[in-house]
Amino acid sequence: MLARQIGLAGAILGANVRSPELPYKVTFVATYHCNFRCEMCHIWQKKSANEMTPAEVSLFFEKWPRFTWVHLTGGELFMRRDLDDLVAAIQTSCRSLYLLNFPTTGWFGDKTMSLVERTLDRGVGRLMTTISIDGPKALHDEMRGLPGSWDKGIETFRRLRGIRRSNFQTVVGMTLMAKNANRVEETVAAIRQVIPDFGRSELHLNIGHQSGHYFDNVGYPVDQHHVEILRAIDAHRKMNGLAVHPVKFLEDRYQALVRRYYETGKSPLPCTALSSSCFIDPYWNLYACSVWDAKIGNLRDDAFDLRGLWESDRRRMLRADVVEERCSHCWTPCEAYPTILGNLARAAVTRAGDLTPAPAETAWAHTIRPHGHVRGRRQLWPNESSSSFRKSSVIGLGATALHNSHSSHAAKPISSRPHQKLNATFSAPALYATRSQGWTTGGAA
Ligand code: SF4
Ligand code: SF4
Repeated sequence: MLARQIGLAGAILGANVRSPELPYKVTFVATYHCNFRCEMCHIWQKKSANEMTPAEVSLFFEKWPRFTWVHLTGGELFMRRDLDDLVAAIQTSCRSLYLLNFPTTGWFGDKTMSLVERTLDRGVGRLMTTISIDGPKALHDEMRGLPGSWDKGIETFRRLRGIRRSNFQTVVGMTLMAKNANRVEETVAAIRQVIPDFGRSELHLNIGHQSGHYFDNVGYPVDQHHVEILRAIDAHRKMNGLAVHPVKFLEDRYQALVRRYYETGKSPLPCTALSSSCFIDPYWNLYACSVWDAKIGNLRDDAFDLRGLWESDRRRMLRADVVEERCSHCWTPCEAYPTILGNLARAAVTRAGDLTPAPAETAWAHTIRPHGHVRGRRQLWPNESSSSFRKSSVIGLGATALHNSHSSHAAKPISSRPHQKLNATFSAPALYATRSQGWTTGGAA
């Protein structure tokens, strides 16, 4: 396991000086099924079918075992009856894996405990789980559309805290947006009524985003109340104290840079999407990230040939877009953490106090922007100069094509999704759990 830890550290340090040959971190969406009915995320409305299978996951990671960090997510992961098989497939076939992390609502307490214990027993460098909580009980249940979800989430968190393994950590994750921006302290107080020793460092704050191809929530008001959000984050950082632990360092740097993101509407550091990291949806579509609907191709259709897609003109063109800041722009932790790790020196010296307060009425940028909306240029990777973009133009993948590439990957109605053309060999069986509210979904729903 030490070798894998060194592997992740090496990948991170390497990413600070050059663009890696292949990404070391993948956000892996195992399902879009979800028993929640959140108002700020419409994943639950997707009629998802033919999602990835454990056999495919094994095949993929056997071919590409160099991922050191897998961020597994959904939907609600525990809607998959075969989740343990899928996680085992990652663990056994991804030989470089060091860090595995996943969020959950905490609704499925017994299943969550069982999965965590089995994952730890199988052996993993580090396992982290996040229980998503959006506020005090009434607000959380209202935003999540499911009565009782706060109680179940906190109870699962309480049980997970009882797992005393040095390579396991669980936290509460709170995503700040208009509706809960000024409710952080109430949330902490509510959790402490159940868990009196709940510590500040056990609460991770992040900010809401819109995404067409992932959350399907374009238009939801995540993009307001910045003054309140910044105030809450500043207070939280002060109470959290010095960031000496690596995870705490990451979280602190992420939060410190939210102000700059709000001011500029751009990633505060040169984004490493399509360099260090990538995003794979349940149908094996390979995207730049969770926010920008820039699709590189479909791994299932291409016999899981990651290198082929990674070395394609399409990936290079989109990476040039990221470097030149022609993307949707975001500061979401999924992508911001590898970006911080890929810009360690700059991230370490950035102090939020150096920055001026954000005005209340600025029109911020993390709504989906028209493609080609460039507000300035990023520092480029040493081997990824702007010439890579110019080369793209020379071979006919220039600005017009870039514009088209973005619009051509806007969220599509479910009937036109690529997964409907999938190889029958990997057709999923009825994998999904009975919904807790009484309705059911199956693999062919
Ligand atoms: S935010 Fe999470 S729990 Fe809510 S609908 Fe989206 S995936 Fe489901
Ligand atoms: S800054 Fe752009 S490319 Fe990078 S993660 Fe955000 S939307 Fe994606």
